[in-house]
Amino acid sequence: MTKNKKIEVITAYFNELLPNVGTELIYHKDYELLIAVMLSAQTTDVAVNKVTPVLFSHFPSLNDLAKAEVEAIANDIKTIGLYKTKAKNVKAIAMMLLENFQGVVPREKEQLLTLPGVGNKTANVVRAELFKIPEIAVDTHVSRVSKRLGLASPTDNPDQIEAKLRKLLKKEQYISFHHQAIHFGRYHCLARSPKCYECKLVDLCLEKNKRLTP
Ligand code: SF4
Repeated sequence: MTKNKKIEVITAYFNELLPNVGTELIYHKDYELLIAVMLSAQTTDVAVNKVTPVLFSHFPSLNDLAKAEVEAIANDIKTIGLYKTKAKNVKAIAMMLLENFQGVVPREKEQLLTLPGVGNKTANVVRAELFKIPEIAVDTHVSRVSKRLGLASPTDNPDQIEAKLRKLLKKEQYISFHHQAIHFGRYHCLARSPKCYECKLVDLCLEKNKRLTP
């Protein structure tokens, strides 16, 4: 099967299985989303959603976050990985948003990348979520699913996977595919025990033998 045919089959299945999926991160303001995505590096959205309501209730504005002691921020987020570095980033992001961007999350990638703790993946998530700009963010789920389904090579890094997905998908599919691949990886094609026994992509999957019985 050609890769173009493959992506057709995969997106049709994703649309059937996961028609309405979006980010699971909870946020109410633009900077809350940015901070939540930054905090989600190497930890789960569930873990982030447990700490952000506490953090944002203790420090309800960008000004409050910019003025906060790093230790106080760290104390609110200490249950997530790399919390000490992330606490410094939260304060620095708040300060930079106020100083350089009038307190508004910028939409340009070059500007987003100037913010501490914000790399290509975080910038893509923020641009897609806040501004509906067609972007594909490659996290651990998107990476695993793309490799298992033969859309990327086993040794590809996130940038290479992103480039391959951009070529295979239409621009208007980028955002939905990104969310669907994350949900598919999180709840169906799990890292250790994928539910191959109920997966309709089993015929084109390179790792279909992982779990063929419940
Ligand atoms: S067959 Fe299994 S490993 Fe392959 S995509 Fe489906 S759930 Fe994932």
